[in-house]
Order: sequence, then structure tokens, then C-alpha cells
Amino acid sequence: MTDSFIQLKCSCNNYPWGKKGHESLAAKYCAQTPGTDFRIEDNVEYAEMWMGTYPTTPSFVLSSGEKLQDVLNANKEKLIGRKVLSKYGSDLPFLPKILSIAKALPLQLHPNKDIASELHKKDSDKFADANHKPEIAVALSDFELFVGFKPLEEIHSLFEFGFLQRFLPSGEKGSKFDDETLQFICGALLRARGDVVREVVQEFQTQPKEKLGQHAYLLDLFPRIQDQYTVEDNGILVALFCMNYMKLKAGEAVYVPQDSIHAYLSGDIIECMARSDNVLNTGFCPQADRDSLDVFLKALTFEPHNANKAILPSKDSDKGSGKTVVYAPPAEEFNVLATALTDGEEETIKEIHGPSIMVVTKGSGSMNTPSHNLNLKEGYVFFVGQGVESRLKADPKGELVVYRAYCE
Ligand SMILES: [Zn+2]
Repeated sequence: MTDSFIQLKCSCNNYPWGKKGHESLAAKYCAQTPGTDFRIEDNVEYAEMWMGTYPTTPSFVLSSGEKLQDVLNANKEKLIGRKVLSKYGSDLPFLPKILSIAKALPLQLHPNKDIASELHKKDSDKFADANHKPEIAVALSDFELFVGFKPLEEIHSLFEFGFLQRFLPSGEKGSKFDDETLQFICGALLRARGDVVREVVQEFQTQPKEKLGQHAYLLDLFPRIQDQYTVEDNGILVALFCMNYMKLKAGEAVYVPQDSIHAYLSGDIIECMARSDNVLNTGFCPQADRDSLDVFLKALTFEPHNANKAILPSKDSDKGSGKTVVYAPPAEEFNVLATALTDGEEETIKEIHGPSIMVVTKGSGSMNTPSHNLNLKEGYVFFVGQGVESRLKADPKGELVVYRAYCE
């Protein structure tokens, strides 16, 4: 009979923004799987470890080599449970990933269900899913990112500089500054010629610090991002002039709703999203990799509109008994639990009425289940079937941090 606790073998992709070799947490986690043939090469970028059943990068059952999806298909009721099964079928509705970020990811958004189905109909190779993709990102280390838009007053005050006024709408429309104005500005910034991008950044960089006031922090960011891509990348203008730049500490998280603009910049994170791989890219990538600007601007929303609204606070979870918090975004496909234990501490995780995937992000210890006592080490990943309690325990003089994404 299939056990409810299934250790997984996951793999890592190699996008050029990933951290190299042993610097990459995603690679380190993959290499920790017992008996794996995964070897870290020093000059290779390792960007994302995927955990779950998404067909392009599926996880495998460690003990048998079978695809996790095949095991779920054969044990639907036991592992997934009727409730989630009736809603989503035997495909896991969520997809957790570990990201190790050395430089900015493409400036992107994930289209809502309507636009996703349209795109999927037209080009199912490029847009494999008719689904939306709300996502959360929880920092595992210091994490820098651009997400959502700055408050309108802040953007307005930047666009009062003479060298930015060319991007403003003229006439009647130019008399107010609202989300419609911002929509216009984003289009104008993203359509600007390369030499204009270069010139505008140069103008900004030569302003005296006092004149820039609250915007002076951008002086260090411009050269940094220009170094990562090209001085003519349109994404630079949108990210720095219009978007919130945030720095999170380990354990802090953001929620990125469908259609919301974002570009992660540096650090290691655990991400969880609805099951989809759809993305519209518009900057921080070569011209050829950018999607239609018209589609991007049609999908784009203006939420969240300041950094505080992007934050997803964690709350104590009733799944645990005091040492477990939950990140519960307003997306029905998933929540994420985080349990942190030290020095032999224990924590019981109550039954979850749906499928889940857990990953040990730090330290070591053990997990007691109704049938086994399992060893836990940093980087180990397990699928856990619905309806079973477990008990986590940190090593006597160590720590143990476990994240667990679930749907119920
Ligand atoms: Zn994203």
C-alpha cells in the first residue's frame, strides 16, 4: 500500500538569472537528495527547484523512480482526498519552487484566467495553461524585489522632473494623475527607443542628491541594474520610476495577485503559485524574449499600489501547536505553513484535508508519522497525502525549518 509520506527527487532549471554553482540554494537542495546523480557544476546557473507534478519539471518518487503524478493518479482518494479531487482533479493545484536569484528576473506579470485562456487557445506551445497564476514569495535570506506600483503621489513627483515629462499624456488627459495616467506612462516607457532609455537614466544620474529627495536611493540602483542587462533595457525605467523596491528579511513574504507587475532582484526564496507556467515578459530580458506589449498592457493591473499592500503577513496556524505560522493569500489554490524549531523542540502538525508538499529549508531532525520515523535534512522534499498527522522534531543541538504548501 502506498505510504502517505513520499520522499521526492526534484530537479532544477538553469535560467541565466540563477545563482552559480554552490552559491545556489536551489542546486544545494537538489544535490541533498539521497542517492541522487545530481552534481553541482561551478560555472552553471541554477535558478529554480520545482516541487510537484507540473509536466515540464516533474518530481519523482525517490524510492521507486515513478513520477509523483502517476502515484497520485493511482491513489487519488487516499492521497488527494475527495474535496480537492472534485475541485481540481488529480493534478496538484499548486506548484512550490525554491528560487536562487543572482540578478533581476524578467519584468513580468501572470495573466488572469480570461486572458490566459485566450492566449492558450492561440498559442498553446507558449502558453501551456488556461489558468491564472497568483503567487507568493517567502524570503529564505535577504530578498530584494520590485513589486506593484509606488503610491501615485510618489510617481507623480518623479514625473515632474523635466526629463520625464515627455512620457506624460498631453492635453485634457495630462491635467490629472491617476491610474489611467500610469497606464499611459508604462506604455510610453516600455515603447521608448533604446537611446531614449539611456539618455533618461543619464539625466537622472546627474541630478544633485538633494534635488532627488526621497528618490535618491535610485542613484545606486540604476547602475546596478544597467550592469545586469543593457543600458537600453526599457524594464529599467518602469521598475525604478514606477514600481516599489522592497527588501525583505527571512520569513517575510509578498503576495503577487494575477496581472500584477513584478521582478525579483536578489536572494533565495520559496515561491508558491497556482498551477500554471504562463508569463508575459516585458523587460530585463533580450528584445526577442519580450511578449506583445499590447497584451501586457491590457492585462496589467495597478494593485498592489504601495509596498505595504504587497506584504503578506504570516499568522499563527491552527494546524500546528504554537511553532507554526501560515501564509494564507487570497488565492484558493494554496496556503503555506512554516514551522521553525530549535534544540530538540517538537511540533505536531495536525491532519490537512488535502495534498501537500513539504521542504526542509534549514537544519535537520526527524518526522514521526503513523508508519515511520523519517530523517529530515536540509533540502529534503516530501509529498504528504491528506488526512495524516505528523510530528516534527529538531536535532538536540540544532534547528529545523520546514515549509509546507497545501490545498484543502
Ligand atoms: Zn512571477
